[in-house]
Amino acid sequence: MKKYQIPLLKDHHLHPYMYAALKDCIDLRFVEKKEDALSILKNGKKDEINVVVGWNNSLYSFTDQEIDPLPPSFILNASLHSYTINKSAADLLRLKNKDIVDHLGDCEWAERNFSAVMKFAEMLNPCTSEKLKDYYNDLLKQGVWFAEEMLLIHEDEIDLFKEAGLIDRTRFWADINTYKTLSEDAQKCICGIKMFTDGAFGSKTANIKTPFLTGEEGIRVFSDDELRQKILEVAELEIAVAIHAIGDGAIEQVIGVLSNVKEEIISIPEIRMEHCQLITKRNAEEAKELGIILSMQPNFNVDSIYYRDRLTEHYILQNNPFRMLIDEVGFTPGKDLILGSDGMPYGVDDSLKCSLFPPYPSQQLTLDEYIAGYCMPDMEHGHIEVEIDEENQSITTEVIVK
Ligand SMILES: [Zn+2]
Repeated sequence: MKKYQIPLLKDHHLHPYMYAALKDCIDLRFVEKKEDALSILKNGKKDEINVVVGWNNSLYSFTDQEIDPLPPSFILNASLHSYTINKSAADLLRLKNKDIVDHLGDCEWAERNFSAVMKFAEMLNPCTSEKLKDYYNDLLKQGVWFAEEMLLIHEDEIDLFKEAGLIDRTRFWADINTYKTLSEDAQKCICGIKMFTDGAFGSKTANIKTPFLTGEEGIRVFSDDELRQKILEVAELEIAVAIHAIGDGAIEQVIGVLSNVKEEIISIPEIRMEHCQLITKRNAEEAKELGIILSMQPNFNVDSIYYRDRLTEHYILQNNPFRMLIDEVGFTPGKDLILGSDGMPYGVDDSLKCSLFPPYPSQQLTLDEYIAGYCMPDMEHGHIEVEIDEENQSITTEVIVK
């Protein structure tokens, strides 16, 4: 057993506002049987919308016959990238936004309009500064001091962070449409533009070159030309950009388009690629060459187990290739390889265990690499006591706040 002290965490990819808003929703994250999920949904509020989170569609999916008799339910997949809605909820919600409700089942539309769907879900369960404080208290119990907000929902969010006294513990990213609606003052609070080029494994919408075992081919949010235009738009704003790309197809597209506009994008101060789980060595080398920062989540190492039902053996082994990125291509944790959780789940316990004892050796990070990529620069606000048991491949942690 070895003991260490590490700084509190700086989660480089989270959605604190969204998760705080959805915190008191019905949560199916730990509900493994469909019967149990259905009986939980049955006890939902009768005349109001029940927003339901955490549904894992690798365990079960719902038929209309099963969910239509239940109270109004709007069910979000654990990845937040796919949705199921029953008839009574659809009838009620159509009054608020017919367009979104009518398109929820269309995964391509939903990916293209991801920000709008998130705004819609938040509106049904509005966040408050109290909820935000509670959420950050939970984060801190799990060792997280700072959490980047990857998708600003609307201008009021910035005020709520200020009101909650949390403005120094985040950094805001916004999609370009939201950014353009912000006041000049609010725009100054935004560090960069977030854009999505594919979906997720959870919703089988990641853009992968070999189809999912279940037949889906994933989706491409933009054509190459559209993506080029979007990136040039960001270059004009002279602001950072964070590009969501999970599948090998999406990553290849992003790298290809960025290479083509190399000269025009020197005004972008920071280019991040989010997740990049199925990055190949070749694309990694090109990304390095382009100066791209990879923003990755060690907790997604377990997707190699979690999504065995849909990922080919090749992808299972290729997922989160940290050793290749660091040892063969030369990415440096903390510099051009940064770590976070995407909230699935957040905190030191899960991410550190996944880093030190991942499903595959190709995914392993050392404790020093984890600290460089995932921790605060110092122990000003506290630290985490870590005990590592190599033999049993387990860790215990204790968060000490100053
Ligand atoms: Zn995210």
